[in-house]
Amino acid sequence: MAELKRLSESRDLTRIERIGAHSHIRGLGLDSSLEARDASEGMVGQLPARRAAGLILQLIRQGKIAGRAVLLAGQPGTGKTALAMGIAKSLGAETPFASVAASELFSLDLSKTEALTQAFRRAIGVRIKEEAEIIEGEVVEISIDRPLSAAAGSAAPSGATAPGKTGRLTLKTTDMETVYELGGKMIEALGKEKVQSGDVVALDKASGKVTKLGRSIGRSRDYDAVGPHTKFVKCPEGELQKRKEVVHCVTLHEIDVINSRTQGFLALFTGDTGEIRAEVREQIDTKVAEWREEGKAEIIPGVLFIDEVHMLDIECFSFLNRALENDMAPILVIATNRGITSIRGTNYRSPHGIPPDFLDRLLIITTQPYSEDDIRKILDIRCDEEDVEMSADAKVLLTKIGVETSLRYAIHLITSAALACQKRKGKVVEMDDISRVYQLFLDVKRSTQYLMEYQSQYLFNEVTGEADGND
Ligand code: ATP
Repeated sequence: MAELKRLSESRDLTRIERIGAHSHIRGLGLDSSLEARDASEGMVGQLPARRAAGLILQLIRQGKIAGRAVLLAGQPGTGKTALAMGIAKSLGAETPFASVAASELFSLDLSKTEALTQAFRRAIGVRIKEEAEIIEGEVVEISIDRPLSAAAGSAAPSGATAPGKTGRLTLKTTDMETVYELGGKMIEALGKEKVQSGDVVALDKASGKVTKLGRSIGRSRDYDAVGPHTKFVKCPEGELQKRKEVVHCVTLHEIDVINSRTQGFLALFTGDTGEIRAEVREQIDTKVAEWREEGKAEIIPGVLFIDEVHMLDIECFSFLNRALENDMAPILVIATNRGITSIRGTNYRSPHGIPPDFLDRLLIITTQPYSEDDIRKILDIRCDEEDVEMSADAKVLLTKIGVETSLRYAIHLITSAALACQKRKGKVVEMDDISRVYQLFLDVKRSTQYLMEYQSQYLFNEVTGEADGND
């Protein structure tokens, strides 16, 4: 438990937001009736796909989507990853979101199925509720069953309390040891303040001043015995009680790594977790099942996003088919920009390179190419996100470039044009900056054209004049 606590705390510290390709996406931009707003939460246009994603979101929230998966299919740069990110953001910070590109599964130092298992378990959250030990600010009752001056041993100032008198007080403190150490001050204060048995007090550690908060109410429960004559009891229910429930949110994968003897907790930060033995996972599943039964933990199925899903092979698809049957399975969202293509590892061709039995499980959402207006709005949002000031003319030119080439290329030009502007010590990106970087960096069309013209000067030239039909 202590390791889990450390982990959830250090994760909060390391969760630094970077400006990434999708950092402007803050949700799906839907209203309360799940209708897509034209531009909201960083999302623009793509209305039918966003509406469909909203319905998926509702199914996820109602826990009705187990065993199914969602396929986002559409041309490159039409917002498939952005949609997956929108779903994840709308689910809230506690819902884990794991994302992998299918090709990563083949390049890691792990077997495909181990890499997929880790990805699945990174997308399954465990919310562990822990009864807090005595924590800062908590009101704790202490009953002392023998003369108060003796309870604190030699630390008690003589004559603080009449010998033989039994007192009971409640302290605000950090832990039991501190309470015990503070015994002398407690007793001193008791003598001065006339605190009676059952009183609830707060003790200021610096000044040793005791403030009376009121009387405790209800029945007390024995807590622990610290000193031979000092009984600590937890404060009963009542308005003075400040008991907090401590909740740790971790993923099953994090619990696996912490408990894997070969790796240990720090491997989570390096990502070098290696293979985790099946027995470790079994033990953890059993433990988590126990915690669930005792009401100490609940499972939060998150979202696992697999991009470039056409790069998965037939073995991975059969693994996914089985993994989705598990009652803890996360929601699987996959994306591809391929049409009919071969299924990796076979000679068969199928839509998106996905085997028909797996396709049958999928809820398919298609994304459409963007209109000029949508592109302008997305570029506007990206300028804000990257803190780039751009003149209206430059935005018009950039939008035109976005329409002629691709949205992604136009987004890339924002940062590079801002650098060009900085170099000439300008504050606002102008048309000239855009034209300059447009000439410096080729888009796909111009790059292909260039290669066609100069192919003879390159090594291993295989272009026959036809472009690859897959992309
Ligand atoms: P690919 O098929 O190449 O993987 P994709 O469909 O996943 O592409 P994204 O990466 O989601 O496309 O989109 C390209 C860029 O445009 C990203 O920076 C993304 O955040 C942004 N974007 C796409 N669609 C939208 C949208 N509807 N609203 C706001 N930003 C968007």
